[in-house]
Amino acid sequence: MPPLLGAIADDFTGATDLAGILVKHGMRTAQMIGVPRQPPPEELDAIVVALKTRTIAPEEAVAASLAALAWLQEAGCSQFIFKYCSTFDSTKRGNIGPVAEALMNALQTGFTIACPAFPANGRAVFRGYLFAGDVLLNESGMQNHPLTPMTDANLVRVLQNQSARKIGLIRHERVSQGAAEIERAFAEARRQGTGIAIVDAIYDSDLVAIGGACRDLPLVTGGSGLGIGLAANFRAHGLLTKDADAGQLPHIDGLAAVISGSCSLATQRQVAVMKNAAPAFQIDPRRVAEGADVVAEAVEWASTRLSAGPLLIYATADDAEVRSIQQQLGAERAGALVEGALAAIACRLTALGVRRLIVAGGETAGAVVGALGVSGLRIGKEIDPGVPWTTSIDEPPLALALKSGNFGSDDFFLKAWSTLP
Ligand code: ADP
Repeated sequence: MPPLLGAIADDFTGATDLAGILVKHGMRTAQMIGVPRQPPPEELDAIVVALKTRTIAPEEAVAASLAALAWLQEAGCSQFIFKYCSTFDSTKRGNIGPVAEALMNALQTGFTIACPAFPANGRAVFRGYLFAGDVLLNESGMQNHPLTPMTDANLVRVLQNQSARKIGLIRHERVSQGAAEIERAFAEARRQGTGIAIVDAIYDSDLVAIGGACRDLPLVTGGSGLGIGLAANFRAHGLLTKDADAGQLPHIDGLAAVISGSCSLATQRQVAVMKNAAPAFQIDPRRVAEGADVVAEAVEWASTRLSAGPLLIYATADDAEVRSIQQQLGAERAGALVEGALAAIACRLTALGVRRLIVAGGETAGAVVGALGVSGLRIGKEIDPGVPWTTSIDEPPLALALKSGNFGSDDFFLKAWSTLP
Protein backbone atom coordinates (compact mmCIF):
# COMPACT_ATOMS: atom_id res chain seq x y z
CA MET A 1 0.00 0.00 0.00
CA PRO A 2 1.43 3.42 -0.93
CA PRO A 3 1.44 6.16 1.72
CA LEU A 4 -1.80 8.09 2.20
CA LEU A 5 -0.39 11.50 2.95
CA GLY A 6 2.50 13.45 1.44
CA ALA A 7 3.60 16.55 3.30
CA ILE A 8 5.78 19.40 2.13
CA ALA A 9 7.11 21.36 5.10
CA ASP A 10 8.74 24.77 4.78
CA ASP A 11 11.31 24.15 7.52
CA PHE A 12 12.99 21.30 9.38
CA THR A 13 11.60 21.66 12.89
CA GLY A 14 8.14 22.25 11.42
CA ALA A 15 8.48 18.98 9.53
CA THR A 16 9.49 17.17 12.72
CA ASP A 17 6.54 18.72 14.51
CA LEU A 18 4.05 17.48 11.90
CA ALA A 19 5.68 14.05 11.69
CA GLY A 20 5.40 13.68 15.48
CA ILE A 21 1.72 14.61 15.41
CA LEU A 22 0.98 12.13 12.64
CA VAL A 23 2.73 9.32 14.55
CA LYS A 24 0.84 10.23 17.71
CA HIS A 25 -2.39 9.95 15.74
CA GLY A 26 -1.61 6.53 14.36
CA MET A 27 0.21 7.19 11.08
CA ARG A 28 3.56 5.48 10.44
CA THR A 29 5.66 8.41 9.28
CA ALA A 30 9.08 9.19 7.85
CA GLN A 31 10.69 12.59 7.54
CA MET A 32 12.96 13.13 4.55
CA ILE A 33 15.70 15.74 4.72
CA GLY A 34 15.29 17.71 1.51
CA VAL A 35 13.89 16.25 -1.71
CA PRO A 36 15.18 12.67 -1.77
CA ARG A 37 16.94 11.08 -4.70
CA GLN A 38 16.09 7.52 -3.73
CA PRO A 39 12.67 5.82 -3.67
CA PRO A 40 10.66 6.13 -0.46
CA PRO A 41 10.96 3.72 2.47
CA GLU A 42 8.21 1.09 2.65
CA GLU A 43 5.27 0.52 4.98
CA LEU A 44 4.47 4.14 5.69
CA ASP A 45 1.19 6.02 6.05
CA ALA A 46 2.77 9.45 5.65
CA ILE A 47 5.96 11.01 4.35
CA VAL A 48 7.05 14.51 5.30
CA VAL A 49 9.62 16.21 3.08
CA ALA A 50 11.48 18.85 5.09
CA LEU A 51 12.46 21.85 2.98
CA LYS A 52 14.00 25.19 3.96
CA THR A 53 11.72 27.45 1.95
CA ARG A 54 10.15 29.75 4.51
CA THR A 55 12.20 32.84 3.80
CA ILE A 56 13.98 32.19 0.49
CA ALA A 57 12.90 33.89 -2.76
CA PRO A 58 9.35 32.81 -3.77
CA GLU A 59 10.53 31.42 -7.13
CA GLU A 60 13.03 29.15 -5.38
CA ALA A 61 10.48 28.10 -2.77
CA VAL A 62 8.03 27.19 -5.55
CA ALA A 63 10.63 25.17 -7.44
CA ALA A 64 11.69 23.20 -4.35
CA SER A 65 8.08 22.59 -3.32
CA LEU A 66 7.13 21.33 -6.79
CA ALA A 67 10.11 18.98 -6.76
CA ALA A 68 8.98 17.64 -3.38
CA LEU A 69 5.44 17.22 -4.70
CA ALA A 70 6.65 15.31 -7.75
CA TRP A 71 8.64 12.92 -5.53
CA LEU A 72 5.67 12.40 -3.20
CA GLN A 73 3.39 11.75 -6.18
CA GLU A 74 5.89 9.22 -7.47
CA ALA A 75 5.79 7.62 -4.00
CA GLY A 76 2.05 7.13 -4.51
CA CYS A 77 0.64 9.56 -1.93
CA SER A 78 -3.01 10.40 -2.54
CA GLN A 79 -3.46 13.56 -0.46
CA PHE A 80 -0.97 16.36 0.09
CA ILE A 81 -0.45 18.97 2.77
CA PHE A 82 1.69 22.06 2.47
CA LYS A 83 2.80 22.62 6.06
CA TYR A 84 3.86 26.01 7.40
CA CYS A 85 4.14 27.55 10.83
CA SER A 86 1.07 27.97 13.03
CA THR A 87 1.96 31.65 13.26
CA PHE A 88 1.66 31.86 9.45
CA ASP A 89 5.30 32.97 9.18
CA SER A 90 5.69 34.61 5.80
CA THR A 91 6.91 37.78 4.13
CA LYS A 92 4.98 40.27 1.98
CA ARG A 93 5.88 38.26 -1.15
CA GLY A 94 5.21 34.85 0.29
CA ASN A 95 5.96 32.12 0.48
CA ILE A 96 2.67 30.63 1.63
CA GLY A 97 0.59 32.09 -1.23
CA PRO A 98 2.97 31.40 -4.12
CA VAL A 99 3.75 27.85 -2.97
CA ALA A 100 0.08 27.00 -2.31
CA GLU A 101 -0.93 28.27 -5.75
CA ALA A 102 1.89 26.43 -7.52
CA LEU A 103 0.90 23.18 -5.79
CA MET A 104 -2.75 23.76 -6.75
CA ASN A 105 -1.74 24.23 -10.37
CA ALA A 106 0.42 21.12 -10.33
CA LEU A 107 -2.41 19.09 -8.80
CA GLN A 108 -4.97 20.70 -11.11
CA THR A 109 -7.21 21.70 -8.29
CA GLY A 110 -9.07 25.00 -8.06
CA PHE A 111 -9.72 24.97 -4.32
CA THR A 112 -7.82 24.45 -1.11
CA ILE A 113 -7.84 25.62 2.48
CA ALA A 114 -5.39 27.48 4.71
CA CYS A 115 -5.69 26.46 8.34
CA PRO A 116 -2.75 27.23 10.64
CA ALA A 117 -4.88 26.73 13.77
CA PHE A 118 -3.69 24.46 16.59
CA PRO A 119 -5.94 25.29 19.56
CA ALA A 120 -4.18 22.95 22.02
CA ASN A 121 -0.99 24.93 21.37
CA GLY A 122 -2.71 28.29 21.68
CA ARG A 123 -3.20 29.00 17.97
CA ALA A 124 -6.83 29.77 17.21
CA VAL A 125 -8.38 31.34 14.12
CA PHE A 126 -11.67 33.21 14.50
CA ARG A 127 -13.28 35.28 11.73
CA GLY A 128 -10.00 34.79 9.94
CA TYR A 129 -7.98 36.47 12.68
CA LEU A 130 -5.13 34.43 14.10
CA PHE A 131 -4.60 34.46 17.85
CA ALA A 132 -1.38 33.38 19.54
CA GLY A 133 -2.41 32.59 23.09
CA ASP A 134 -4.73 35.36 24.27
CA VAL A 135 -3.59 38.03 21.85
CA LEU A 136 -3.76 38.73 18.16
CA LEU A 137 -0.81 37.56 16.09
CA ASN A 138 0.41 41.13 15.55
CA GLU A 139 0.53 41.73 19.32
CA SER A 140 2.23 38.43 20.15
CA GLY A 141 5.81 39.47 19.49
CA MET A 142 5.63 38.02 15.97
CA GLN A 143 5.32 41.62 14.69
CA ASN A 144 9.02 41.98 15.58
CA HIS A 145 10.26 38.72 14.07
CA PRO A 146 13.56 39.44 12.28
CA LEU A 147 12.72 37.49 9.11
CA THR A 148 8.95 37.17 8.97
CA PRO A 149 7.38 40.08 10.91
CA MET A 150 3.63 39.47 11.14
CA THR A 151 2.01 42.89 11.47
CA ASP A 152 -1.54 41.88 10.52
CA ALA A 153 -3.56 39.11 12.23
CA ASN A 154 -6.19 39.04 9.47
CA LEU A 155 -5.16 35.99 7.46
CA VAL A 156 -7.56 36.68 4.60
CA ARG A 157 -5.77 39.98 4.03
CA VAL A 158 -2.29 38.55 4.61
CA LEU A 159 -2.79 35.67 2.17
CA GLN A 160 -4.60 37.85 -0.40
CA ASN A 161 -1.49 40.05 -0.53
CA GLN A 162 0.55 36.98 -1.48
CA SER A 163 -1.90 35.34 -3.89
CA ALA A 164 -3.43 35.84 -7.33
CA ARG A 165 -6.47 33.69 -6.47
CA LYS A 166 -9.37 34.97 -4.39
CA ILE A 167 -9.01 34.27 -0.67
CA GLY A 168 -12.19 33.43 1.24
CA LEU A 169 -13.22 32.61 4.79
CA ILE A 170 -15.12 29.68 6.32
CA ARG A 171 -16.48 31.03 9.61
CA HIS A 172 -16.63 29.18 12.87
CA GLU A 173 -20.45 29.11 12.77
CA ARG A 174 -20.15 26.67 9.86
CA VAL A 175 -17.10 24.83 11.18
CA SER A 176 -18.79 24.12 14.53
CA GLN A 177 -21.61 22.27 12.74
CA GLY A 178 -19.31 19.51 11.58
CA ALA A 179 -17.75 18.04 8.48
CA ALA A 180 -20.85 17.91 6.26
CA GLU A 181 -21.64 21.59 6.85
CA ILE A 182 -18.00 22.55 6.25
CA GLU A 183 -18.11 20.66 2.95
CA ARG A 184 -21.21 22.65 1.97
CA ALA A 185 -19.34 25.84 2.90
CA PHE A 186 -16.42 24.72 0.70
CA ALA A 187 -18.81 24.20 -2.23
CA GLU A 188 -20.35 27.67 -1.72
CA ALA A 189 -16.91 29.27 -1.48
CA ARG A 190 -15.90 27.59 -4.73
CA ARG A 191 -19.04 28.85 -6.47
CA GLN A 192 -18.17 32.35 -5.31
CA GLY A 193 -14.79 32.05 -6.95
CA THR A 194 -12.69 31.43 -3.85
CA GLY A 195 -9.41 29.65 -4.57
CA ILE A 196 -8.08 29.38 -1.02
CA ALA A 197 -10.30 29.55 2.07
CA ILE A 198 -9.00 30.48 5.50
CA VAL A 199 -10.85 28.15 7.87
CA ASP A 200 -11.69 29.18 11.43
CA ALA A 201 -10.84 26.72 14.22
CA ILE A 202 -10.90 27.41 17.94
CA TYR A 203 -11.16 23.88 19.39
CA ASP A 204 -9.13 20.81 18.49
CA SER A 205 -12.46 19.12 17.67
CA ASP A 206 -12.81 21.72 14.90
CA LEU A 207 -9.65 20.31 13.34
CA VAL A 208 -11.19 16.83 13.25
CA ALA A 209 -14.31 18.18 11.53
CA ILE A 210 -12.17 20.11 9.04
CA GLY A 211 -10.08 16.99 8.34
CA GLY A 212 -13.27 15.10 7.54
CA ALA A 213 -14.47 17.86 5.22
CA CYS A 214 -11.15 17.76 3.35
CA ARG A 215 -11.47 14.08 2.42
CA ASP A 216 -11.86 14.90 -1.30
CA LEU A 217 -9.36 17.75 -1.47
CA PRO A 218 -6.11 16.65 -3.10
CA LEU A 219 -4.29 19.53 -1.37
CA VAL A 220 -4.69 21.20 1.99
CA THR A 221 -2.42 23.78 3.59
CA GLY A 222 -1.93 24.57 7.24
CA GLY A 223 -0.05 24.03 10.47
CA SER A 224 0.82 20.77 12.15
CA GLY A 225 -2.54 20.81 13.98
CA LEU A 226 -4.29 20.06 10.71
CA GLY A 227 -2.46 16.73 10.79
CA ILE A 228 -4.77 15.72 13.65
CA GLY A 229 -7.80 16.19 11.41
CA LEU A 230 -6.27 14.45 8.40
CA ALA A 231 -5.21 11.44 10.48
CA ALA A 232 -8.68 11.24 12.05
CA ASN A 233 -10.23 11.24 8.59
CA PHE A 234 -8.01 8.40 7.36
CA ARG A 235 -8.85 6.44 10.50
CA ALA A 236 -12.59 7.06 10.09
CA HIS A 237 -12.34 5.59 6.59
CA GLY A 238 -10.56 2.49 7.86
CA LEU A 239 -7.35 3.38 6.05
CA LEU A 240 -5.02 3.13 9.06
CA THR A 241 -4.08 -0.34 10.18
CA LYS A 242 -6.09 -0.48 13.34
CA ASP A 243 -3.71 -2.13 15.75
CA ALA A 244 -0.45 -0.95 14.22
CA ASP A 245 1.73 0.91 16.67
CA ALA A 246 2.75 3.84 14.50
CA GLY A 247 5.71 4.78 16.68
CA GLN A 248 7.24 1.28 16.62
CA LEU A 249 10.76 1.45 15.21
CA PRO A 250 13.07 -1.38 14.20
CA HIS A 251 15.42 -2.42 17.01
CA ILE A 252 18.94 -1.17 16.47
CA ASP A 253 21.91 -2.80 18.13
CA GLY A 254 25.23 -1.11 18.70
CA LEU A 255 27.24 1.13 20.97
CA ALA A 256 25.76 4.37 22.28
CA ALA A 257 26.86 7.95 22.83
CA VAL A 258 25.53 11.39 23.70
CA ILE A 259 26.92 14.38 21.81
CA SER A 260 25.99 17.80 23.11
CA GLY A 261 26.67 21.12 21.40
CA SER A 262 23.75 22.98 22.93
CA CYS A 263 24.39 25.62 25.59
CA SER A 264 20.72 26.17 26.42
CA LEU A 265 19.85 26.09 30.11
CA ALA A 266 17.96 22.80 29.91
CA THR A 267 20.92 21.18 28.16
CA GLN A 268 23.32 22.54 30.78
CA ARG A 269 21.26 20.76 33.45
CA GLN A 270 21.02 17.58 31.36
CA VAL A 271 24.79 17.53 30.87
CA ALA A 272 25.32 17.98 34.62
CA VAL A 273 23.07 14.99 35.38
CA MET A 274 24.71 12.85 32.70
CA LYS A 275 28.24 13.68 33.92
CA ASN A 276 27.33 12.13 37.27
CA ALA A 277 26.16 8.92 35.64
CA ALA A 278 28.53 8.31 32.73
CA PRO A 279 32.07 9.05 31.53
CA ALA A 280 32.26 12.49 29.94
CA PHE A 281 34.71 14.29 27.64
CA GLN A 282 34.64 18.07 27.26
CA ILE A 283 35.51 19.80 24.00
CA ASP A 284 37.30 23.12 24.48
CA PRO A 285 36.59 25.37 21.48
CA ARG A 286 39.82 27.33 22.13
CA ARG A 287 41.90 24.20 21.59
CA VAL A 288 39.99 23.42 18.40
CA ALA A 289 40.78 26.97 17.22
CA GLU A 290 44.48 26.50 18.05
CA GLY A 291 44.54 23.53 15.70
CA ALA A 292 44.76 20.74 18.32
CA ASP A 293 43.34 17.44 17.01
CA VAL A 294 40.51 17.43 19.51
CA VAL A 295 38.48 15.07 17.32
CA ALA A 296 41.17 12.38 17.51
CA GLU A 297 41.58 12.93 21.27
CA ALA A 298 37.85 12.55 21.88
CA VAL A 299 37.56 9.45 19.70
CA GLU A 300 40.56 7.80 21.34
CA TRP A 301 39.15 8.58 24.77
CA ALA A 302 35.81 7.09 23.72
CA SER A 303 37.24 3.98 22.09
CA THR A 304 38.26 2.38 25.40
CA ARG A 305 35.04 3.28 27.20
CA LEU A 306 32.23 2.72 24.69
CA SER A 307 31.76 -0.96 25.42
CA ALA A 308 30.99 -0.19 29.08
CA GLY A 309 27.83 1.80 28.24
CA PRO A 310 26.70 5.20 26.95
CA LEU A 311 29.13 8.09 27.27
CA LEU A 312 28.98 11.84 26.82
CA ILE A 313 31.03 14.13 24.60
CA TYR A 314 30.07 17.77 25.06
CA ALA A 315 30.96 21.36 24.28
CA THR A 316 28.09 22.62 26.43
CA ALA A 317 29.21 25.44 28.71
CA ASP A 318 27.50 28.01 30.93
CA ASP A 319 26.64 31.49 29.71
CA ALA A 320 29.74 33.21 31.13
CA GLU A 321 32.07 30.63 29.57
CA VAL A 322 30.30 30.82 26.20
CA ARG A 323 30.54 34.64 26.24
CA SER A 324 34.23 34.51 27.00
CA ILE A 325 34.85 31.99 24.20
CA GLN A 326 32.77 34.04 21.79
CA GLN A 327 34.69 37.20 22.68
CA GLN A 328 37.93 35.43 21.95
CA LEU A 329 36.94 33.53 18.78
CA GLY A 330 33.84 35.32 17.51
CA ALA A 331 30.42 33.75 18.03
CA GLU A 332 30.03 32.45 14.50
CA ARG A 333 33.52 30.99 14.29
CA ALA A 334 33.23 29.33 17.70
CA GLY A 335 29.89 27.81 16.69
CA ALA A 336 31.19 26.53 13.38
CA LEU A 337 34.34 25.05 14.95
CA VAL A 338 32.37 23.22 17.61
CA GLU A 339 29.75 21.98 15.15
CA GLY A 340 32.47 20.75 12.80
CA ALA A 341 34.32 18.95 15.57
CA LEU A 342 31.20 17.28 16.99
CA ALA A 343 30.02 16.22 13.52
CA ALA A 344 33.44 14.69 12.78
CA ILE A 345 33.40 12.90 16.15
CA ALA A 346 29.95 11.48 15.39
CA CYS A 347 31.21 10.04 12.11
CA ARG A 348 34.30 8.52 13.73
CA LEU A 349 32.17 7.02 16.49
CA THR A 350 29.97 5.24 13.95
CA ALA A 351 33.15 3.76 12.49
CA LEU A 352 33.79 2.33 15.99
CA GLY A 353 30.37 0.68 16.03
CA VAL A 354 28.19 3.39 17.59
CA ARG A 355 24.67 3.02 16.21
CA ARG A 356 22.67 4.88 18.84
CA LEU A 357 23.23 8.59 19.22
CA ILE A 358 21.58 11.33 21.19
CA VAL A 359 22.47 14.76 19.87
CA ALA A 360 21.65 17.94 21.78
CA GLY A 361 21.41 21.24 19.90
CA GLY A 362 19.39 22.19 16.84
CA GLU A 363 22.33 23.45 14.77
CA THR A 364 24.51 20.72 16.20
CA ALA A 365 22.00 18.05 15.16
CA GLY A 366 21.84 19.53 11.65
CA ALA A 367 25.64 19.35 11.37
CA VAL A 368 25.77 15.78 12.71
CA VAL A 369 22.97 14.46 10.53
CA GLY A 370 24.54 16.15 7.48
CA ALA A 371 27.97 14.67 8.19
CA LEU A 372 26.49 11.19 8.73
CA GLY A 373 24.75 11.44 5.36
CA VAL A 374 21.32 10.78 6.83
CA SER A 375 18.67 11.29 4.14
CA GLY A 376 15.55 10.44 6.12
CA LEU A 377 14.22 9.40 9.51
CA ARG A 378 11.44 7.09 10.66
CA ILE A 379 9.73 8.86 13.55
CA GLY A 380 9.14 6.88 16.74
CA LYS A 381 7.76 7.48 20.20
CA GLU A 382 8.39 10.66 22.14
CA ILE A 383 11.05 10.53 24.84
CA ASP A 384 9.90 13.89 26.16
CA PRO A 385 7.39 16.28 24.53
CA GLY A 386 8.64 17.23 21.07
CA VAL A 387 11.63 14.85 21.03
CA PRO A 388 11.01 11.43 19.49
CA TRP A 389 13.40 8.57 18.94
CA THR A 390 14.02 8.18 15.24
CA THR A 391 15.82 5.65 13.08
CA SER A 392 17.66 6.64 9.94
CA ILE A 393 16.51 5.02 6.72
CA ASP A 394 20.08 4.85 5.40
CA GLU A 395 22.74 2.16 5.76
CA PRO A 396 23.79 1.41 8.41
CA PRO A 397 20.58 2.35 10.21
CA LEU A 398 21.15 4.51 13.28
CA ALA A 399 18.89 5.27 16.23
CA LEU A 400 18.94 9.04 16.62
CA ALA A 401 17.37 11.34 19.19
CA LEU A 402 17.76 14.95 18.05
CA LYS A 403 17.00 17.34 20.88
CA SER A 404 17.09 21.05 20.31
CA GLY A 405 17.60 23.80 22.86
CA ASN A 406 15.36 23.83 25.85
CA PHE A 407 13.55 20.55 25.24
CA GLY A 408 13.60 17.65 27.66
CA SER A 409 13.67 17.04 31.40
CA ASP A 410 16.92 17.18 33.41
CA ASP A 411 17.38 13.40 33.17
CA PHE A 412 16.60 13.41 29.44
CA PHE A 413 19.79 11.61 28.34
CA LEU A 414 19.29 8.79 30.82
CA LYS A 415 15.58 8.61 30.14
CA ALA A 416 16.31 8.24 26.43
CA TRP A 417 18.38 5.09 27.05
CA SER A 418 15.50 3.45 28.84
CA THR A 419 13.22 3.97 25.81
CA LEU A 420 15.68 3.05 23.07
CA PRO A 421 14.11 1.53 19.97
P1 ADP B 1 20.38 24.99 20.74
O1 ADP B 1 19.41 24.06 20.13
O2 ADP B 1 20.48 24.87 22.22
O3 ADP B 1 20.22 26.41 20.26
P2 ADP B 1 22.48 24.70 18.80
O4 ADP B 1 23.32 23.51 18.50
O5 ADP B 1 21.41 25.06 17.80
O6 ADP B 1 21.85 24.51 20.24
O7 ADP B 1 23.40 25.98 18.96
C1 ADP B 1 24.44 26.04 19.86
C2 ADP B 1 25.63 26.67 19.16
O8 ADP B 1 26.61 26.96 20.15
C3 ADP B 1 26.27 25.77 18.15
O9 ADP B 1 26.67 26.51 17.02
C4 ADP B 1 27.49 25.23 18.89
O10 ADP B 1 28.52 24.85 18.03
C5 ADP B 1 27.87 26.41 19.74
N1 ADP B 1 28.64 26.06 20.93
C6 ADP B 1 28.56 24.91 21.64
N2 ADP B 1 29.40 24.93 22.68
C7 ADP B 1 30.02 26.12 22.65
C8 ADP B 1 30.99 26.74 23.49
N3 ADP B 1 31.48 26.11 24.55
N4 ADP B 1 31.39 27.98 23.16
C9 ADP B 1 30.88 28.61 22.09
N5 ADP B 1 29.98 28.08 21.27
C10 ADP B 1 29.53 26.85 21.53
